[in-house]
Amino acid sequence: MPTSRSRRAPGARGGCFAVLDPATGETFDEAPDQQPEELDAVVGRAHAAWLGWRADPGARTTALLAAADAVEAAGADLAPLLTREQGKPLAESYAEIARTAARLRYFAELDPGTQPITDGRPVRGEIRWRPLGPTAAIVPWNFPLQLASAKFAPALAAGNTMVLKPSPFTPLATRLLASVLSTVLPPDVLTIVTGREPLGARLASHPGIRHVTFTGSIPTGRAIAQRATASLARVTLELGGNDAAILLEDVEVERIADRLFWAAFRNCGQVCMAVKRLYAPARLHSQVVEALAQRAKTAVVGPGLDPGSQLGPVSNAPQLARIEDYTARALADGARAVAGGHRLDRPGYFFAPTILADVPPDSPVVRQEQFGPILPVLPYRSLDEAVAAANDTGFGLGGSVWGTDLDRAEAVAGRLECGTAWINHHAETSLAQPFAGVKDSGLGVAGGPWGLYGNLSPFVVHRPVEG
Ligand code: NAD
Repeated sequence: MPTSRSRRAPGARGGCFAVLDPATGETFDEAPDQQPEELDAVVGRAHAAWLGWRADPGARTTALLAAADAVEAAGADLAPLLTREQGKPLAESYAEIARTAARLRYFAELDPGTQPITDGRPVRGEIRWRPLGPTAAIVPWNFPLQLASAKFAPALAAGNTMVLKPSPFTPLATRLLASVLSTVLPPDVLTIVTGREPLGARLASHPGIRHVTFTGSIPTGRAIAQRATASLARVTLELGGNDAAILLEDVEVERIADRLFWAAFRNCGQVCMAVKRLYAPARLHSQVVEALAQRAKTAVVGPGLDPGSQLGPVSNAPQLARIEDYTARALADGARAVAGGHRLDRPGYFFAPTILADVPPDSPVVRQEQFGPILPVLPYRSLDEAVAAANDTGFGLGGSVWGTDLDRAEAVAGRLECGTAWINHHAETSLAQPFAGVKDSGLGVAGGPWGLYGNLSPFVVHRPVEG
């Protein structure tokens, strides 16, 4: 089994950069600081590997199923390393690894098939599907392995090769994952590059890359889309969210409070489709605030490696600074921290789970994506007002509606402007479903068969009707 210590990648000339443990705020390892000039050789090798990888779908299925087994077998090495660099509780790291293996299995066995062209006229045509070539993925730090696999599993299953760049905050578990996968995949089918900007920017605009798939913030997504235009590469963007949850008048607060709390606070709130704004009927507002505050006060916050921790530290210092800033601005504008509202007095990037009441609706913690352990709870008087407030945003990733009458809840969910709407839960997904944000939250579709087709190009063959 490969060790968790980072080693300088072959050809890395730029030295290394430090990786910090968010539970201590101190450096615990380093990763190669690869330079943009290395990308020509990396992409060239990915292209050479593609010529073999694209040729045999059966061999791909076998290799990807073996990859899933290898990931599972390496769980005990991967999980603590992931927790160490990202901060999340160990059980969540194991869940991320299980999801990575499941995704490999799902896409390994997904067949794009061929489709006849049928438009009522006597045309005998057929659609086949071809891989695109070497592709690039750039991913963030909140789910390093799960989001990496959301990129490479469909790309590799489609017959593409991939160069993947993790966030500089969380490069280590991804490097170890690549090392594990190298025991079952042909060389250069999946290459991990690590380094600081402009490595990602140069990867996104490399002329040898045929598809750039990115998960991260909206501003970076915009920049990447502009850069990829230069080479006319296909672009898929999975971007930020500011999901609203609406509680209906008939909601049973105590019954849903645990689920609702964790829909906002899992992974320390650092989930693209976490509940980030909560709208409660004015009549129930105090009860909802109290129920959530009680859970926020009793949630166990500590290092992810401590078995009892339910919430780890915030993942990195800039993210902690953003959370502190949003909270301070809300409090200065008259909000009340019914729970939390401050950093914990201990080393590392710990922030107390925070429930905010009396928040002005135009406060940044409501209007922007806080991406941390803070939840503003806003009262509403009419359902139309709540739906309008939920939709009054440039974000469009997810949303949810909570109540006892499921038909009514579903009717309200149908009015939300987002890619996925949940009833009485939030952020649960299936590997078989499409995943796409609307408005500024994304471009293109990931997940399920749509994710596979996003990595393929249609190839149409026409035959004459006669002769
Ligand atoms: P980010 O945009 O700052 O960085 C994401 C990745 O892009 C990192 O690997 C980073 O190194 C790289 N990068 C930074 N600048 C770049 C540039 N100019 N060109 C190319 N690459 C560049 O995002 P983050 O802070 O790492 O992640 C948090 C964001 O990700 C949140 O907005 C969250 O909602 C979003 N996210 C979205 C989804 C989704 O599926 N929609 C999932 C998880 C996270």
